[in-house]
Amino acid sequence: MASLSDEISSRRTFAIISHPDAGKTTLTEKLLLYTGSIQTAGSVKGKSSSKHAKSDWMDIEKERGISVTSSVLQFTYDGACVNILDTPGHQDFSEDTYRTLMAADAAVMVIDGAKGVEAQTKKLFKVCTLRHIPIFTFVNKLDHDARDPFELMEEIENVLGINTYPMNWPIGSGRNFRGVFDRQTRRVLAFEGDGHANASKKVAEIEAELGDPAMDELIGEENHKNLMDDIELLDGAGDELDLDAVACGKLSPAFFGSALTNFGVEPFLKEFLRLAPTPRPYTDVISGEPVEPTRDDFSGFVFKIQANMDKNHRDRIAFVRICSGKFERGMTAYHVQGERNLKLATGTSMMADDRAIVDEAYAGDIVGLFDPGIFSIGDTVCAGKEHVRFAGIPTFAPEHFARISQVDTLKRKQFVKGMEELAQEGAIQIFRELGAGMESVVVGVVGVLQFEVLEQRLKSEYHVEVYRQPLPFSEIRWIEGDMDEKAVRALSLTRDTMRVEDMRGGKLLLFTSEWNLNFAVEHNEGLKLSEFGNVT
Ligand code: GDP
Repeated sequence: MASLSDEISSRRTFAIISHPDAGKTTLTEKLLLYTGSIQTAGSVKGKSSSKHAKSDWMDIEKERGISVTSSVLQFTYDGACVNILDTPGHQDFSEDTYRTLMAADAAVMVIDGAKGVEAQTKKLFKVCTLRHIPIFTFVNKLDHDARDPFELMEEIENVLGINTYPMNWPIGSGRNFRGVFDRQTRRVLAFEGDGHANASKKVAEIEAELGDPAMDELIGEENHKNLMDDIELLDGAGDELDLDAVACGKLSPAFFGSALTNFGVEPFLKEFLRLAPTPRPYTDVISGEPVEPTRDDFSGFVFKIQANMDKNHRDRIAFVRICSGKFERGMTAYHVQGERNLKLATGTSMMADDRAIVDEAYAGDIVGLFDPGIFSIGDTVCAGKEHVRFAGIPTFAPEHFARISQVDTLKRKQFVKGMEELAQEGAIQIFRELGAGMESVVVGVVGVLQFEVLEQRLKSEYHVEVYRQPLPFSEIRWIEGDMDEKAVRALSLTRDTMRVEDMRGGKLLLFTSEWNLNFAVEHNEGLKLSEFGNVT
């Protein structure tokens, strides 16, 4: 039997990020294909076909062809136990991506070779850098005309501010795409066949050495010459693959390939698994010390809550990133925020909707715990005598606000329950206007599409129809300290400033402009406002 530390050191847990359409889903699918986790391509997601991504649980995803929720895929390959955390590509869900990255030890950034760094790549990349995790780059779609690779590397460095180290180098692109040169082995992996026809099969790779006259035949004389020039330039730059810089996210190992035609996927996976970090320690905020993954006692934190994945069961799953030790189904652990012991009765591993019961899991893994409504995002669970607590996950300040009220006032109970449960999941933030009841709720979201998800889910899961009235707030501030409701109502504010309370009882002010915000600060002595709510 493998020891605890062997199990943990075989774990590789990462998230894939990309601008929509760069090929994240296709790459994920090819990784599963290579590792034998699925048999046919197209079973992860076919946007226009009836086969949807395994992570496409919700109708809205199907309608729009976007992936809204994050799912976790696990497979073993080459002695490694790999966990891929899927993230939504749409910008309106970057908060969800942020939370997912809290549970990842590395990120893979997929870039469309023709488009380079796109808007959403930038935004998600920024989120990655907040965590200082290693970032790997996969430049995709080389079978289509792509931009000059030097130019692409320069763009990544200039726009994203991260250095790159090309692990391999493309030979031509589009119709002229002949393969890649591996800088470690100094060999060429030649691209074979016409791509699309082979799209669902593993591609054959022919290896040959640079400078070999046989290469002229393999990739063409001109390509061979260009490649030698490019490699000379790259080698001349003299950069080393500095592993320390990779580990802290300052240098990104870059790979070229084509996910659709399978080309470059397997070498990428192999190198990635070699370079990617094993589970990292998370800090215990009680002692201020890092909790080593190999610590005997189990610990972890909730980074995502997903409700009603199966309409027939109306259940809720709290996804826990295991930070230390071993999880065993049925074990008892202490829920720090709830201040009580719980039996972790149901562990599920996600091959998206095929939920297999997990009997054991180790630091680095993700388990889905059955949640009867007790967990919130950021909560810690731990076993053993010594309790630990991991830092809470900060919520993004909402950027859009609306008043949501129910159409049928008799359904008040379902309405309140639905709003609260969806807020616990972290998809929306809800506020109560001071002085008002719960017949209407002020909702804040990071991206407007979340309003649509909210309406649709209230309708399909809670059978509640709602009205949505957009509210013109642009600035949100939490009032620091413990100010009671009466004192908040007595504040001197402009008429269009709203006084609200969050789910934890924190008091906030919503402003329609910075001018109104300044007014509040200037007219209320001692009033301290903060951009973030309490996170720990
Ligand atoms: P995502 O939105 O990032 O998940 O992107 P998808 O994986 O769904 O891919 C978007 C589109 O690009 C789909 O039509 C894919 O078939 C196509 N695509 C993905 N990878 C490649 C590739 O390597 N070459 C080409 N030509 N098309 C690709």
